[in-house]
Amino acid sequence: MKNVNFEVVANEKINLQKLSFAQKIISQLQQELPDYIAKGKGPFLAAVYDDKGNLIAKEANSVVAKKCSHNHAEMNAIKAAEKALKTYDLSGYNLRLYVTAEPCMMCLGGIMWSGIKEVYYSVPSKKVEEITGFDEGFKPEWLEEFKKRHITVYGNIEVEAGMEVLQDYVKRGKTVYKPERK
Ligand SMILES: [Zn+2]
Repeated sequence: MKNVNFEVVANEKINLQKLSFAQKIISQLQQELPDYIAKGKGPFLAAVYDDKGNLIAKEANSVVAKKCSHNHAEMNAIKAAEKALKTYDLSGYNLRLYVTAEPCMMCLGGIMWSGIKEVYYSVPSKKVEEITGFDEGFKPEWLEEFKKRHITVYGNIEVEAGMEVLQDYVKRGKTVYKPERK
């Protein structure tokens, strides 16, 4: 696992300033995640920031804690941002979503309809599935599809640290829920 090289992927030319801010925020989220897990949430954490670097909302996955299948970290963070800004359309706010793993098929829809402009994620879905057994769904060419809709995506940011949190979650025997897949 240590020898795997995770190159940052993006659907536009990489802006080093944006990447370096994303590395900082995602590292913070990874460091905070164990506290959320200890409270029965996680193992994913997402945050919405504006283009000046101000935090608008931060939420962990609460599917198990709140008994709601769509309470993924991204969906919770988007809902909290919309509540904070009192709107159902975030497109006028130039917001960025930072998340500790690649969004699943549900969250891609949630992100697309929210008006979020930029998405930064850590652990790619393939690794999330290998480590945890979660089913991330099917989402062919989503970086290209987001590009068509003017949503910037950067992925594979701080992957090793992100994988460690997930490995620890599984080691502790925490709940993994997933639909059966053939
Ligand atoms: Zn999701």
